[in-house]
This record gives sequence, structure tokens and C-alpha cells, in this order.
Amino acid sequence: MTTSVTAYAAPAPKAPLERTTIERRPVGEHDILIEIAYAGICHSDIHQAREEWGSALFPMVPGHEIAGIVTEVGSGVTKYAVGDRVGVGCFVDSCRECENCLAGDEQYCLKGEVATYNGKAYDGSPTYGGYSTHIVVDENYAVRIPDGLSLDVAAPLLCAGITLYSPLDHWNAGPGKKVAIVGLGGLGHMGVKIAHAMGAEVTVLSQSLRKKDDGLRLGADRFYATSDESTFAELAGTFDLIINTVSANIPLDAYLSLLKREGTMVHVGGPEFPSSFNQFSLIMGRKSMAGSKIGGIRQTQEMLDFCARHGFGAEIEVITADRINEAYERVVSSDVRYRFVIDIASLKG
Ligand SMILES: [Zn+2]
Ligand SMILES: [Zn+2]
Repeated sequence: MTTSVTAYAAPAPKAPLERTTIERRPVGEHDILIEIAYAGICHSDIHQAREEWGSALFPMVPGHEIAGIVTEVGSGVTKYAVGDRVGVGCFVDSCRECENCLAGDEQYCLKGEVATYNGKAYDGSPTYGGYSTHIVVDENYAVRIPDGLSLDVAAPLLCAGITLYSPLDHWNAGPGKKVAIVGLGGLGHMGVKIAHAMGAEVTVLSQSLRKKDDGLRLGADRFYATSDESTFAELAGTFDLIINTVSANIPLDAYLSLLKREGTMVHVGGPEFPSSFNQFSLIMGRKSMAGSKIGGIRQTQEMLDFCARHGFGAEIEVITADRINEAYERVVSSDVRYRFVIDIASLKG
């Protein structure tokens, strides 16, 4: 039997989110039932609820930064027990057979992984995300939140944290490496914290110096305004790795000029319209342009353990569910430091 649970949903594209009831599937043999404690608000929640990324499924319950407690387990569950602290990120299933799934990169599943919300499970049923009191997921698509991390600051790690950890790890950020993080928002602030904890020298490239104090406090060694022309001259040929978290078009050739020989620029956000650049910006210095999308389950667990070991989560502002629509407006105007997290207790009763 399905269970009715309270949720916040967008009934139609661009409509405000409102309190509603959704059905969760029965707890199957390999499923766990999670009582959600906190759900982060990712900018992609807003893009999808407003149907800015192409046609979407409504009603939509967004939320793919989920942290909570296991309250029931299926008969075949081996990884989790009632009372465990767990998280769910951007996907809740994948084919488990393709070369990417087998490599632990389920986020690149060739059949298409099942998105946590605004997606369809392989049986065709719609998926609903974390702005709700409970969720049922296969135990293989949950991760353990270490005791050292409180659930509220852990929630945003499930998308923002892994989105930055994965490329920083893949391109070997660490001691002796110079890393630039472009943009200091929900994604960028995690990039600064993680790259600093990995031992890299971290520079923030932000539009203005408005967030400079924050950036340095979060672990950046240097902070530059990209609106200042002299920044690009001063930093030419500096970085081993540039992670671009900005989902707007930026002058790519100018940024590529900041890379050292064999440096890499990695994009983790996508602008609405394509960008262009001059191939000579890569040729002159054997440079690379790359992209990266969240991370697999194994790496997401590794990231949570890493953050716990280094004693940090996200910088958050906790809100009650009735303030979700207001929070959306503030995210769109970049008025959040650095992630809104919904206290799901406010959805109950
Ligand atoms: Zn996200
Ligand atoms: Zn697959």
C-alpha cells in the first residue's frame, strides 16, 4: 500500500509552491523509508519548477539535497537500520548494468539515471523530491551521513557538495595546486571549502569584492573581482584548475588565459545559451576545457566522510516550509549565504 505524506509542490509551471499530499510507494524488499529532517534548496529546483529547462512534470515536489533518519527497512536491506542518519542526492536509481554504473559513475548512466524529482522511475511512475516529510528509496541510492555532521548543514552537500568535490578530486586539487573557483554562491562556497581542505591554494574569482570577507573566512587564500580588468592581467597563466560554477555566459578566452600550461577549466553549471571560444586559447598551452556532473554514490559517500573529517558542512539559512516561495525569489537575486535549507518539521502537523 502507498502512504500519503505531506509535501510542498508546484502544481503547474511558474505557479507558487503550496502544501499538498503525495503518495509514497510501499517499502519494498531493498527499500528504506526515510523521515526527512532537512531539504536544501538548489537553484536547479527553481529552474525546473519554473520549467526553464524544457518540459517538466507537474505537480512537482522539488528537492535533491535530502537529509533524514531511517524509520523502516525492507526485509532484504543490509546497509541501513532504523535510526541511521542518511542522505539522498540527485538520483534514486540507475540501470546498474552499463559501463558507467559499473564504474560507480551512476550519474552518467547510459540508460539514464532516475532523477530524485521531475523524473520517472523505470516503471513509469513520477518521482517526488525532498520537500516532503518522507521518501522511500532503494538502499543502494542512499548514503550515510557521518555522526560528526549535523543533518541541516549536511543536506546541501548532497548536490552542491558533490558537484564541487567530484571535479576537485578528479583533477587532483591538493597541495601545490592552484585552484580558482569562479562564482561564490551555493556551489562556489562549497568549492572553496573543499579545495582548501584538500590542501590546494584557492582563489575566488567573483564579479565584485562584495563577498571577499566571506570568501577568505571560508578558506580562500585570494579573492579577485572579475569586473576589474587588471585581474586578468595579474593572474595570467596562474591556475592548474579553474572550476566555473556560474551558469551565465562568461568570456571563456579570458578565463582560459588564466590557466597554466596543461591546466583545465571545468564547467559545473550550464548557461541557457551556448558559449563560444577561440580554439587557440587551448592550443597555446595544451589546455583543456571540461565538464562535470555531481558524482556517483561511492564518491558521494567519500565526500560526506571527507567533510565530516574536516569538520564542515554548508553555510546555511534554515527556513520553514511556508517561506519556500520567498526563498526562491532570494536565490534568483543571489540573496542567500549560501544555501537555504527547509526545516521539514515545519511541514508536519
Ligand atoms: Zn542541485
Ligand atoms: Zn547505467
